Order: sequence, then C-alpha cells, then structure tokens
Amino acid sequence: SLPHGAQGPAFYDSALTERLLREHELNDLFADSLKSGDFHVFLQPKVLLDGDRIAGAEALVRWHHPQRGMIYPSDFIPLFEKNEKICQLDLYVFEQVCLTLRRWIDSGLEPFPVSVNLSRRHFKQSDCLRPFEEIARRYRIPSGLLELELTESILFEDRAIETVKAQILEMHRMGFLCSLDDFGAGYSSLGLLMEFDVDSIKLDRRFFLRLSRRRSKDLVESIISLAHKIGAQTVAEGIETTDQLDFLREMGCDLVQGYVFSRPLPIPAFEDWMKNWPG
Ligand code: C2E
Ligand code: CA
Ligand code: CA
Ligand code: CA
Repeated sequence: SLPHGAQGPAFYDSALTERLLREHELNDLFADSLKSGDFHVFLQPKVLLDGDRIAGAEALVRWHHPQRGMIYPSDFIPLFEKNEKICQLDLYVFEQVCLTLRRWIDSGLEPFPVSVNLSRRHFKQSDCLRPFEEIARRYRIPSGLLELELTESILFEDRAIETVKAQILEMHRMGFLCSLDDFGAGYSSLGLLMEFDVDSIKLDRRFFLRLSRRRSKDLVESIISLAHKIGAQTVAEGIETTDQLDFLREMGCDLVQGYVFSRPLPIPAFEDWMKNWPG
C-alpha cells in the first residue's frame, strides 16, 4: 500500500493545478473564440400551459471549440464571472438574439419575447444597460420582445433595494421585460418579491422534484399567487415529465420550460421545431 500521507496532498495539488491550468486555458481561448463565432446561442421554448402555445424562448450559450469540443456553461460561466468576460459574452448573446428577432420579423413570423441571461457582474456600473439599449435600437426590436433574466441572488448583494428597483425601471424604460431567475434557489423571501416590478418569475426546478410533498405544494401555490398579485407571470423551469405538467396546471402556473417540450436547440433546429409545433 501507499506510504501514509504521500498520495493525499499530491492528489489534491495536481487536481488544483489542473483546474487552474484549465481556467487559464479557457481564459486564453475566449477572445479568439468570440471572434471566430465559436460561441453559439441555443434557444429553449417557453410554452403557455393553458393552450400549449409557444409564448417565449430563453437564449442559452454554448461554446463549441474546434479542438476542445463542446463546452457547457457550468464550465465557463462561473469562470468568466470572475473577470469581466461574462459582460462581453452576454452582449454577444444579446446581439445574436436581436439578429434572430429581426430576421423573424422581416420574414413575417409572429415573434415572441426571447430572454437573455444577464450576469450580476453587469450591475457594477450604473450605466450598464446602455449597450443593450444601443444594440436593441440598432436592430429596431419593438419593445416587449427582449427580456432580461436576473438571478434572484442579485437582490442580496450589498446593493440597496432602491438601486435594483431603479435598474428594473430603467429596463422597462428601454422597452425590455424583466424576469427573476432561479427563484427559490435559496435566497428569496416571499416578502421581498413584493418589492420588485418584474414581469415574470422563474421557479427553480428543484421545486418540482418531489411533488408529493405537502410543503412544496403549499410553497409553489403561494409563490404563484403572490406573483399574480404583483402582475407577474410564473415560469416553471426544468420540467421533464407530464406528471409535473399536471401538477403545474393544478397550481395555475403560466409557462413551462423544460425537456418535456424541448431541450435548448441551435437556432435553425429551434425554427424547425417551431414549424412542427401543433399549437
Ligand atoms: P439557467 O438560466 O437557470 O438556465 C436553465 C438551465 O436548465 C439551462 O442549463 C438549461 O439547459 C437547463 N434545462 C432546461 N430544461 C431542463 C430540464 O428539463 N431538465 C434539466 N435538468 N435541465 C434543464 P445550461 O444551458 O447548461 O445553463 C446553465 C446556466 O448557465 C444557466 O442557468 C445560466 O445561469 C447560465 N447561462 C447560460 N447561458 C448564459 C448566458 O448567455 N449568459 C449568462 N450570464 N449566463 C448563462
Ligand atoms: Ca435563465
Ligand atoms: Ca434558472
Ligand atoms: Ca407586471
């Protein structure tokens, strides 16, 4: 067997080194990848439960590196959040979405809102929304078709409630919808929800993993009713089964996003999927 203590620290050191090397490598690849179009926007539909109509889509980024293969957000978003790269990436995704919406409008398709994830890193600057407004204007996107998803944790950093309120107001002034992402993932209080004039609230998928629990039913029911009271739509995330759909119908949830309808798809595949949608 191994000499006592010889394997442990060496193992951890090399794992750490490997992670740092990988982070370093991904950081180095970023700028070229952005220029070469190796980041791709995938779209996942949001379906209206009452009527099964497509009512929106979320843009999710994928990194397809010619040598490294497919890299998923969990491998690079947290890394790019440590530096400013995430801001550039979010703007790139936003512009791709504007381009797509413009194309849909020009070809006579009835467009629906498409949401883009906004890292909390953006909010370090007070005029952080200006570039988004500028791009939306450049592509002449009518108001109400672009939605910005903010994670609920944004409400809990050392930022005054008033500051967040002002930023939501600013989004609305720019014609953007505002969505509160990952609600229930750990930070929020229902009371705090009342403070913000968001257009939709996305309930984290973990609410729907154990439906039989009385507690989860009560909680989902209260969130949905509170959301409706403040005039916000509710979106259930990560829905995979028809049992979950039945539950959500019973709860009066508005929209559903999840594998049960479709995985996130490359834009051309998403457009095909839309054409074949029965609604
Ligand atoms: P998110 O915003 O909560 O996005 C939803 C995640 O759930 C996506 O993972 C999506 O692929 C996945 N998902 C959708 N339906 C189902 C389902 O039925 N079951 C399960 N198990 N998962 C489902 P993805 O694409 O890997 O993205 C992970 C996270 O990375 C996102 O979580 C978001 O926080 C972040 N992210 C992705 N794209 C962007 C981006 O362009 N900008 C920023 N700032 N963050 C992004
Ligand atoms: Ca999201
Ligand atoms: Ca989410
Ligand atoms: Ca509203």
